[in-house]
Amino acid sequence: MNQRSLLMVPGPIEFEPAVLQAIGQPTPSHVSPTFVQTFGEALEDLRQVFLTDDGQPFVISGSGTLAMDIAAANLVEPGDKVVVVSTGYFSERFADIFERYGAEVTTVRAESGEAPAEGVVEQALDDHGPKLMVMTQVDTSTGVEVDVEEFATLADEHGALSVVDGVCATAGAEFRQSAWGVDVCVTASQKAIGVPPGLALVMVSPQAMEAYEARSAAVQNYYADFANWLPIMQAYEARRPGYFGTPPVNLVLALHASLKLILEEGMEARFRRHRLIARAFQAAMETLGLRQVPHSPDLRAATMSAVYYPEDVDSSLLGKVREEGVIVAGGLLPQMAGRYFRVSHMGSVSANDILATIGAIGRGLQRCDYEFELGAGLEAAQRVLGRL
Ligand code: PMP
Repeated sequence: MNQRSLLMVPGPIEFEPAVLQAIGQPTPSHVSPTFVQTFGEALEDLRQVFLTDDGQPFVISGSGTLAMDIAAANLVEPGDKVVVVSTGYFSERFADIFERYGAEVTTVRAESGEAPAEGVVEQALDDHGPKLMVMTQVDTSTGVEVDVEEFATLADEHGALSVVDGVCATAGAEFRQSAWGVDVCVTASQKAIGVPPGLALVMVSPQAMEAYEARSAAVQNYYADFANWLPIMQAYEARRPGYFGTPPVNLVLALHASLKLILEEGMEARFRRHRLIARAFQAAMETLGLRQVPHSPDLRAATMSAVYYPEDVDSSLLGKVREEGVIVAGGLLPQMAGRYFRVSHMGSVSANDILATIGAIGRGLQRCDYEFELGAGLEAAQRVLGRL
């Protein structure tokens, strides 16, 4: 009997054995010389993964939502204007967080499965002249990936700092923080970064640090305040110990291990692998006659897919796919949660993983009496994967 299953939900994902072994090491003191060295290297490696030369990394115990909270708490003061480009549930969450810190938020929305048009976003920037423009690179509720470079350029042209939620994107979907002029990117460990849940990661440009330093009001969140964490991050990078709050030592060991694997692969190869595996999966779903939540192929994310159940099939498909050995997720957008499912293809995902997933979805559909040409999805995917 095979008790193993393949976890293909959009976080947490399957983790590499070397990363899990790093977590299992005896916990060192957070001020031991070896840990100081490991943390320092991890901070340097993070810069390479975000493709920034001069970003300030923050690695803090917490989930992705804390990373969002840190960005908002430090960058806005009551009355500051923020424009949020919304592509789903997590963009709306980011808007809520900014509002909690007193920002005047304007949210630019589109139909579910669409991204707001450039012209509409530009209009909002013209109308409001915000301090910040916020976007979600991949909104995990819709599987829509926005053109971060285009929006960040627009923000820059309007004198706004750009903030990107990269929780479901960073280290998988193409992202170039310096070249694209992104000011803040927030992410978390449990997705394409490849480390079990528990680390909030934030990369801040020098311009955004200047905006933080120019604040007149105190940061309204003690734990999140850059003032508490900046000296710690700087100390570890200078290979000196520091203390504000006890770091999640074993998770930092795991982060170090995962970043080494990521950089060994190389960012360009990694972006390409994600893009191809995504295309393979998305081609398979199309061939099986399943519609996808993103309205056009160019909006479909490199890291995950959101797919409608076909007619006469409902969410019982998820249980059947699980019995076939692959775990995928249900829908998340409250207004249509029961109508679609979500599949992750990020991190160390391989061609074998995605073929196993397509096969399990096919067998699940068969058990739901859905009519389709058995094997056609796998064939479509194989054709794309041949280019890996
Ligand atoms: N943003 C996005 C795009 C996400 O996918 C998630 C988590 N699914 C979050 C933010 C929140 O992260 P966390 O669950 O780690 O708090």
